[in-house]
Amino acid sequence: MQSEQDIFYMKLAIEQALEAKKIGEVPIGAVIVKDGEVIAAAHNLRESENRAVAHAELLAIDEACQKVDAWRLEGATLYVTLEPCAMCAGASVLARVERVVFGAPDPKGGCAGTLMNLLQDERFNHQCEVTDGVMSEECGMLLTEFFRELRQRKKKKKESAPE
Ligand SMILES: [Zn+2]
Repeated sequence: MQSEQDIFYMKLAIEQALEAKKIGEVPIGAVIVKDGEVIAAAHNLRESENRAVAHAELLAIDEACQKVDAWRLEGATLYVTLEPCAMCAGASVLARVERVVFGAPDPKGGCAGTLMNLLQDERFNHQCEVTDGVMSEECGMLLTEFFRELRQRKKKKKESAPE
């Protein structure tokens, strides 16, 4: 169930996603909240940094650990616009994130319930609470529009290229 609070923080994650979009990155954003304070905010930087691991969630987890000066993010909630992938879901478990809230599901890579649920596998020594579908339409629309514009730009480029 999405609460007012979840919507509030998801909007901050969406702001991060828009920052990614501005620099031509796939618009995915994340924030981490602990004790009512935003301790990290990040967006996807995979293209700009040529780093396969520069996903919004991973960057936010790194930043949050620096901020609290610990690798454990107990009591923290990760808000992310797109369902975490295997790497980011894994990192959330390893960092002992208490709760993960995401917007749009990811049919091609989601590991928080879509393809599998790494966040709640009882074989691991930690499970995260999961809330899905918070502002899911807004989060998904960002991605749909981004890829539509990308395709149009590519098409235009092709059309204007000399034979
Ligand atoms: Zn990821």
